[in-house]
Amino acid sequence: MPFLPSLIAEKVTDLTPELLRGLDIRLLMLDFDNTLVPYTTDVPTEAVVNWLAEARQAGIGLWVVSNSRKERVKGFCKQYGLPCVTGALKPLPAGIRKCLDQCGVPAKNCALVGDQIYTDTLGANLAGVRPILVKSINNHNFWLKLRHAAEMPFIIAAGKRRIKT
Ligand SMILES: [Mg+2]
Repeated sequence: MPFLPSLIAEKVTDLTPELLRGLDIRLLMLDFDNTLVPYTTDVPTEAVVNWLAEARQAGIGLWVVSNSRKERVKGFCKQYGLPCVTGALKPLPAGIRKCLDQCGVPAKNCALVGDQIYTDTLGANLAGVRPILVKSINNHNFWLKLRHAAEMPFIIAAGKRRIKT
């Protein structure tokens, strides 16, 4: 089912290196907006900065794969030393595949973490990488709230895949 995440977490920092290693995930593709930071800033929390460092130290490859082309994404990636694909056009699989090609990690050892079912989860499933759904950091407007309501059937269907923290 292309709309179902293989795992649900509350937030990106819940995905510990131990958990990822246990799932045999060696490359993590990260959605940017509302997954790493809210739309309103490009400054991550200390928890996110520490998590990036820990994952990297554990040998997990980290890439940002974002549909945005904005400078805030590129600036963030530069500052934190993250390679990125911008303008990824998720749910089309091309941007995700581009990342896979450049990393040389088999798709089965990759996951894409994102907050949106209709772009991140669907795109990951179409590209053959594991979709991990996290809660949007802040659905600050009506349209984001409406989209979240439309996602609820799939979030409920995948309810048993939620990790305990
Ligand atoms: Mg997002």
